Amino acid sequence: MEGTETATVTASGMGAITPVLLQLCDTGEHIVSSRTIYGGTYAFLKNLAPRLGIDTSFVDITKLDVVEAAITPKTKILYCESVSNPLLEVADIKGLSELAKKHNLKLIVDNTFSPLSISPINLGADIVIHSLTKFINGSSDAVGGVICGTQEFIDELRNVNDGAAMLLGSTMDSLRSASILKNLRTLHIRMQQHSLNATYLAEKFENAGIKTVYPGLASHPSHNLFKSMMNEKYGFGGMMTIDVGSLDKANALMELMQERNLGYLAVSLGFYKTLFSAPGSSTSSEIPEDEQAEMGLSDGLIRFSIGLDADIERTYEMMKSCMVELGILKTEMV
Ligand SMILES: *Cc1c(COP(=O)(O)O)cnc(C)c1O
Repeated sequence: MEGTETATVTASGMGAITPVLLQLCDTGEHIVSSRTIYGGTYAFLKNLAPRLGIDTSFVDITKLDVVEAAITPKTKILYCESVSNPLLEVADIKGLSELAKKHNLKLIVDNTFSPLSISPINLGADIVIHSLTKFINGSSDAVGGVICGTQEFIDELRNVNDGAAMLLGSTMDSLRSASILKNLRTLHIRMQQHSLNATYLAEKFENAGIKTVYPGLASHPSHNLFKSMMNEKYGFGGMMTIDVGSLDKANALMELMQERNLGYLAVSLGFYKTLFSAPGSSTSSEIPEDEQAEMGLSDGLIRFSIGLDADIERTYEMMKSCMVELGILKTEMV
């Protein structure tokens, strides 16, 4: 699927990410990472890796000059998510891979948010990681991860004497790997539907005057970049965010939508039902409040993982009534 020579599955997404970083970095070495990444990855790089003498510079990954300026003679890794969590910033994988080659770094891309839509290896990435827990398994009933790379690198990771994936113990159970493989068979169909539904809702919300972030919208700062990288038929993915102004309103809306069976208040993503969460107080709570503000992670932000609803027009009508009831939308606007 990712076009690499091989891959190795792991017990979780974090169980894929941490061994890769530790395999490639020694004490005294350095990582340049996007600042808008999954909270667990951020916490690992910020709090745990420094105890092993590995330091990270967090940068705005959309600015290639800023990324290059952060590279030092000690840097080994450029790390990013193709579409970042939760702000949906899009990484210029081609541009980053040119920087990586120039400075002899490995470009590692977490592609969890955009399976099939974006193929980082074709754009020059060295290693691609997924949390299988999300879209790939798609049923929120399993935890897993995968590392896609060269045969040589995967062999190193699995080496019984010094391989980080082997020795840190994030080996995936074989029964679980078989169950996730069965779900992988329908990923292509599911991604198309997630993308169609998210596109529909994002356009409707934006037209109703709600601040909406979705890479498929022309208003998204990286809309054209995503378009230039994507495998068109899988669309812009299932993730979108809206800003409803305050955490209280965000919580009230999520509670009401859950009550009306429009989805679940949950921090995961890639499920057949729509899932929603307020990232500032949940999945990105590892990131200090002042840093959240600096990167545009506002209190009223709701992150949606749009589900596989067969009648998305009806879903929109129901979501709209919830918003009108809570005063988030004025009736005359919709
Ligand atoms: C969930 C997630 C992870 C971690 O995956 P787990 O399987 O929960 O350990 C890593 N990266 C991204 C982008 C994620 O959404």
